[in-house]
Amino acid sequence: MTTQQAAAPLSSIVIVGGGTAGWMTAAAISRMVAAGISVQLIESDQIGTVGVGEATIPSLRDFNLALGINENEFLRAVQGTFKLGIEFSNWGNVGERYIHPFGKYGRKTHGIDFHQIWLKQKHRGGQADPGPIDDYSISIAAARNGRFSRPVANPDAILSALNYAYHIDAGRYAQYLRDYAEDRGVKRIEGKIISVEQAPDSGNITAVKLEDGSLVDGDFFVDCSGFRSLLLGETLGVPYISWQHWLPCDRAFAVPSAPSGRPRPYTRAMAEDSGWRWNIPLQHRTGNGHVFSSAHGDEDTALRKLADGMEGQAIGEPRLLRFVAGRREKLWEKNCLAIGLSGGFIEPLESTSIHLIQSGIFRLMALFPDAGFDPVEIREYNRWLIEEYEHIRDFIILHYRATERSNTDFWKYCQTMEIPDSLAAKIELWRGKGRIFPAGNSLFTEESWIAVLLGQNIIPHSVDPVTAMLPPEATDRFMQQLQTIIDQAAQSLPSHADYILANCQAE
Ligand code: FAD
Repeated sequence: MTTQQAAAPLSSIVIVGGGTAGWMTAAAISRMVAAGISVQLIESDQIGTVGVGEATIPSLRDFNLALGINENEFLRAVQGTFKLGIEFSNWGNVGERYIHPFGKYGRKTHGIDFHQIWLKQKHRGGQADPGPIDDYSISIAAARNGRFSRPVANPDAILSALNYAYHIDAGRYAQYLRDYAEDRGVKRIEGKIISVEQAPDSGNITAVKLEDGSLVDGDFFVDCSGFRSLLLGETLGVPYISWQHWLPCDRAFAVPSAPSGRPRPYTRAMAEDSGWRWNIPLQHRTGNGHVFSSAHGDEDTALRKLADGMEGQAIGEPRLLRFVAGRREKLWEKNCLAIGLSGGFIEPLESTSIHLIQSGIFRLMALFPDAGFDPVEIREYNRWLIEEYEHIRDFIILHYRATERSNTDFWKYCQTMEIPDSLAAKIELWRGKGRIFPAGNSLFTEESWIAVLLGQNIIPHSVDPVTAMLPPEATDRFMQQLQTIIDQAAQSLPSHADYILANCQAE
């Protein structure tokens, strides 16, 4: 273990980078860490931020809650809309679509998980065939009808099964958090870092030098410098582990467009010949992008597909972003912790990057090095975050591997590529009797796995034997009633656009 025990309690933190990662970290530290520790954040207008990252998952609500942020005020500030899930089209086969909802499917009966009841009916077939599992989700029914409401508290009501995240303007979110953090004492420094100083004995980072010659020193450095990974990667030399063989997409064109029509309460991810396109509706614009594999498709084609698929008028020119899926071997090394793109990147198919930022921050709070750096705590931090990265990685790979498409070289590659053993084992277990057991620190629940597995036509060969206790006729009735309750409940909700207008419309 190379980490040295710090000689004195922590007194100063330097955050390098003012993108979403930097300002989320600064805001959280300013709220959750005891007074007495100085926090400085350095960012460079010259370099700028990556400037994308508009779709989120429900966990962002916990982050904002921890900061005491009012949800309606936040949505007004970030021109946000609500997100009930993600619609995947053309992933299993061309012409097919399903929604990965954030809320739950159906409800239990006889203590049996809903997906097992659905599966039982599917295996019975004929009149009992339940149709797509999408038909039993209130979140999906609301999404498809362009409706939205926050969930109700009564656990017996079907509307309690709704769950939601947001579509946000990430630049405005960073600005919002900047105001929040500066109000709580975080000092912002504008300047470009040109070199990094280290202690000769321990190798710990001691200071960063700015272009104007000034030095900013600190005890603890949080690297939020984006893909460049200025401190963890470049300075401390922590290697990058590439997952490109499993996730070959390495480029994206992104461009906003003028809003067209009423904003949908869900993100769209549309599979293309060598990748996929996104569509993310905000109040003031729509985010569009095309993620693709440069080994399987060229930039001109990707640009053309992006333009062809866009609903509103483009605002500005598309920007090209380059990346390699993967993570740093460690996320915390010596007195430096990487949060955000400096630590790793998984393509935005399930909108997980901002979640990984927040997860890194919460884990940092749980293992905060107030009295110095403890190798045991650093090891635990790395273990937790790395596992979380890998669970997410497996879930994203599933979308590609579980395709039945073989119409292009890209999809042929995805359909036949080797996958991590951890994912292969999950799929195999599922194929047997529809069993799925996500790990304790896995972001994605059973419901999420079920959405993608069934959405992409991986139907288990059999069902859990516990379903033998389901009385067939009563189960048929249960399924029909459930569908009716869900349809009626969805129809009773206000339209998503009206809900925004009434609660959180930006001025
Ligand atoms: P950046 O935004 O790159 O910020 C880096 C900061 O470091 C900047 O302030 C920069 O000025 C500063 N900096 C760097 N070098 C120096 C230096 N030498 N001196 C001073 N300052 C320096 N995430 C989601 O959750 N949902 C999405 O829908 C989503 N979509 C994405 C789509 C694409 C194509 C890509 C590439 C990413 C997407 N992400 C998404 C990820 C998301 O954009 C990032 O996780 C998020 O923006 C955080 O970025 P960051 O703060 O780590 O880095």
